[in-house]
Amino acid sequence: MSESILDATNPRLPAPYERHALEALLARHGSPLLMIDCDVIRAQYRALAAALPGVDLHYALKPLPERSVVATLKEMGGFFDLATSGEIELVRRAGVDPRRCIHTHPIKRDVDIRDAIRFGVRIFVVDNPDEIGKFVRHRARAEVLIRVAFRNPAAAADLSRKFGCDPESVPALLDLARRLGVKVAGLSFHVGSQTPDPAMHVLAVQACNRLIVQARAEGHSLSVLDIGGGFPIAYKAAQLPIEAFCAPIREALAALPHGLRLIAEPGRFIVGPAGTGLATVVGRALRDGRWWFYLDDGLYGSYNGQLFDHADYVVRPLRDDGSRVPAVLAGPTCDSIDVVKEDVQLPLLEIGDVIVGHSMGAYTSSSATDFNFIRRARVLAVNEQAQAGAHD
Ligand SMILES: *Cc1c(COP(=O)(O)O)cnc(C)c1O
Repeated sequence: MSESILDATNPRLPAPYERHALEALLARHGSPLLMIDCDVIRAQYRALAAALPGVDLHYALKPLPERSVVATLKEMGGFFDLATSGEIELVRRAGVDPRRCIHTHPIKRDVDIRDAIRFGVRIFVVDNPDEIGKFVRHRARAEVLIRVAFRNPAAAADLSRKFGCDPESVPALLDLARRLGVKVAGLSFHVGSQTPDPAMHVLAVQACNRLIVQARAEGHSLSVLDIGGGFPIAYKAAQLPIEAFCAPIREALAALPHGLRLIAEPGRFIVGPAGTGLATVVGRALRDGRWWFYLDDGLYGSYNGQLFDHADYVVRPLRDDGSRVPAVLAGPTCDSIDVVKEDVQLPLLEIGDVIVGHSMGAYTSSSATDFNFIRRARVLAVNEQAQAGAHD
């Protein structure tokens, strides 16, 4: 299948996306780069906050665990969703208040729990009897959310396959926690990443609504509902605007009992559009009538998201004279699977030319490897200082 990556959809881009600005960044910092625009993070955060009023947005660090991202969101009054001790260390160093953090890994070692408690996190997530048992010794200083599974085969990554209990087993887990003296603060779910439509979020909120009402009738004082992440962004295919995506979710939330604290755990939506991949052509060869352009970033680097995250990034040449040849964009390792785009039409690139990848902030550098001793793209934040005059 042939696809055009002609840049027809991109009008002249503002700084820092203007060609000479990007070339200057590469000259200064080396290639490959993953440029993170903190102004885009601010805009994404504001858009989701406006679409989900009354919901505390806990940024899930895993798609892009970067100091600049944490600092930007901290400044905006954001909250954080941590899953590992490394993530705890990152927010601790950024001076984040631990009371603005929750720990959401459903399966933890005691040392993980202790690290989080030492930092000052109070809310954790469980989905099974053994995990509840782990909190008996910490019950004076910790409370838990029960993560419920709602299977979502439509999501790019169905996060309810590996974690979460059946809705039907929530009452038994609540009773167990009560017998053990472990406080259950509420319920959580994650319907899956890059969810194409809000139907699963709505179903899950409605199901949790019934579970919370039932639990309260049995004397459990649940006070938190955490609706997870999964909010989609546009890659090659367009997605619903976030306002339209969240409208039915808002309606489902409005039907919940009053006084609940509402939480969401967005990851991709906050950072995905903020990341721009910059890779340089390091070699080329004409093979079987197609030009192979070899980049210094590939499937084992920033483009791993095309494998692990099922993402299809829009890429374009930074210098474009409008001509086209049949081309393949290949990564730098010696492995033949390391091909970024097959059967594309590109200008006849030269060594030193730059390929730009759009919306590459989430699940790219965070899951990249240094296979073949080829170092992963350096992450470089731009617009870290909010523009003077702009207000959050
Ligand atoms: C990965 C993850 C998130 C973020 O999900 P997105 O789809 O990127 O929004 C949120 N919560 C948990 C528990 C996760 O594992």
